[in-house]
Amino acid sequence: AFWVGISIGGLSSFYSELMKGLGAGGRLWELIEKKPQLPFNGGKDVFRGALEFKDVEFAYPTRPETSIFKDFSLSIPAGSVMALVGPSGTGKSTIVSLLLRLYDPISGTITIDGFDIRQLNPLWFRTKIGTVSQEPILFSCSIAENIAYGAEDPSTVTAEEIQKVAEIANANSFIRDFPKGFDTVVGEKGILLSGGQKQRIAIARALLKVSHILLCPFPTPFVTSALDAENEYLVQEALDRLMEGRTVLIIAHRLSTIQNADFVAVLGQGKILECGKHEELLANPNGLFRKLMQKQAFLQNNDTCALDLQSRE
Ligand code: ATP
Repeated sequence: AFWVGISIGGLSSFYSELMKGLGAGGRLWELIEKKPQLPFNGGKDVFRGALEFKDVEFAYPTRPETSIFKDFSLSIPAGSVMALVGPSGTGKSTIVSLLLRLYDPISGTITIDGFDIRQLNPLWFRTKIGTVSQEPILFSCSIAENIAYGAEDPSTVTAEEIQKVAEIANANSFIRDFPKGFDTVVGEKGILLSGGQKQRIAIARALLKVSHILLCPFPTPFVTSALDAENEYLVQEALDRLMEGRTVLIIAHRLSTIQNADFVAVLGQGKILECGKHEELLANPNGLFRKLMQKQAFLQNNDTCALDLQSRE
């Protein structure tokens, strides 16, 4: 409403007033014009996706007195899968918010391939981050359009590219079984898909995104027991293919989601209390992670992680 009230004629004087208000340096321009400062190699970016949080201190602006992170450091090598675990309220989701630059740390740095993410254009940076959640959102349009949505410019995606990612995501065969194939409309106005089918379409969509970082905020195991065994296998296989070559951060609210992680970090008291290779942490009899696993196994003796723990002992 503020902008609507300004007539075109008054716009230029308003703009100069605004620039004066912002200071002669024109910081607004600087922000709009900001280009990614990552090195480019003959037009191809050499973004690999190594993530590092270094001595991060953070409190939400609305609760400055409550520190969420004090001395938080975490390093995720490019192309590896890190699962972040920890009790409720320790700040797992906050880490995702910081990565997406919904907030900036009070002190300390978050870098990607050594570049402070504050130096990068946030919109550009977000295009490099893919996400897969347990409840993927499909739009009321064709399956092809739903998949193409993952690309930077959906209008340029070819039918071959869509089929290729659908194949990798184990979605091709069920899509072809529909009379209208990739033109089948899904969602409220069309065919209702099963949970596993939706997940595979979401994975195909994520495959189209040229992302080097994948965030998986899984509130419960992604591959749930609600899926039948075949569906479960197909979804897990598609997910493994999506993770390949990407730096993956799994926010594991349940311990059973982390079986495929290379590294596990245990979060508590505003910092990483324990971090290491999955098997090593599990093998440490006095380790926190092992205790967490045992506790969960005790609480939910039907959970897959309980079976896992037993089979490793
Ligand atoms: P859970 O496993 O329950 O999802 P979590 O580990 O993801 O928890 P966060 O959601 O990151 O934890 O929350 C960490 C702390 O920050 C909590 O005390 C929460 O109440 C607080 N918090 C989260 N979001 C906000 C916000 N927007 N403003 C103020 N405080 C917040």
